[in-house]
Amino acid sequence: MSFSSLGISQPFIKALDELKIKKPSPVQEQSIPFLLTAGTDFIAQAPTGTGKTAAYGLPLLARINPSSPHIQGLVLAPTRELGQQVAKQLFKFTKYSEKIFTEAVYGGAKIEAQISALKRPTQIVVATPGRLVDLLQKNAIDLSFVKTVVLDEADEMLSMGFKKELTRILKHTTGKTNTWLFSATMPPDIKAIIKDYMAPDAHRVTIGSDRLNKDIAHQYTITMAEDKLDTLVKFLKESKEDRGMIFCKTKVAAKTLGKQLIAKNLSAEAIHGDLLQKERDKIMRAFKNESLQFLIATDIAARGIDVKDLSFVAHYELPDQVEYYIHRSGRTGRAGNKGLSLMFLTKGDMKQLDFIQEKLQIGIDKVRV
Ligand code: AMP
Repeated sequence: MSFSSLGISQPFIKALDELKIKKPSPVQEQSIPFLLTAGTDFIAQAPTGTGKTAAYGLPLLARINPSSPHIQGLVLAPTRELGQQVAKQLFKFTKYSEKIFTEAVYGGAKIEAQISALKRPTQIVVATPGRLVDLLQKNAIDLSFVKTVVLDEADEMLSMGFKKELTRILKHTTGKTNTWLFSATMPPDIKAIIKDYMAPDAHRVTIGSDRLNKDIAHQYTITMAEDKLDTLVKFLKESKEDRGMIFCKTKVAAKTLGKQLIAKNLSAEAIHGDLLQKERDKIMRAFKNESLQFLIATDIAARGIDVKDLSFVAHYELPDQVEYYIHRSGRTGRAGNKGLSLMFLTKGDMKQLDFIQEKLQIGIDKVRV
């Protein structure tokens, strides 16, 4: 399968090629031909890191009329970081095609600058829901020409508390546009959004568990509670140069583990809600440029951070929700380069392990570290 056989035009293919995107990923194969041709709604259950930005981005760009200055495409994303990343990718995809102008708007930055940026011709807006509602209230954005609305990481938007904003925006756009929803998981509040704001005949694809099985090895190791830290340290010391993320359930646990690993001379830092944005950015920069090897995080702190392709993900504490297990594990593994999702368990965790295995239909192997 090639991008050209999916219906992508040559200028886009040239740009993709430069980004080393040569062969469509499963979510791209299943989304692109449909989104390029059909004028209906679309629902994809696909974990992060599977190439969904291109899966919706390329068809979105193809639907834009570059000679009209109006906003024709709207992408909603949970965080500033994801929004900026999506806008950047869209920009790169159009390197060899007619220019299409994308603007990212998000909270935590001055709204005035964004308002004046939107006065220039803009065909696609990538927005966090809160900031978009602010802009709508100020009459600073005109969505009346929007033909396509994309909800990227819809489950994350809801778990970040954007339900009110999201429904408000969807009320504004439903019926006049096609809505394309991408979500790693399908919790009840996503199902409610689908029911209330999307066409009953929306086309659905699921990518999830296949990737979870094919690209990721799931393993667990059992220790006594008092040996757990040493087992983790042993595993980390054996991982040589490999980068990985270590998940805890609570902020306190993440902070404590950070201190413990640093005390063992490991290159580790924890991100959690008590850090200033500046401190957090610094840690994330270090992790991305690989001067920091291990990143400890809670599920909440990990939201929206753009880190994937990791050699491993370690669950120092199992998550309460299966959805979190998918989000955590989705950060490791990629076609051709199998990732590792390793759980550090004590006896009391076995029930939750069975539950995860059952729910996700994945094979989980017991190993000794
Ligand atoms: P996304 O899931 O859209 O955040 O994409 C994750 C990463 O995979 C990005 O760095 C993309 O550039 C890359 N990517 C997307 N599609 C492909 C593909 N078909 N082949 C190789 N890499 C890809």
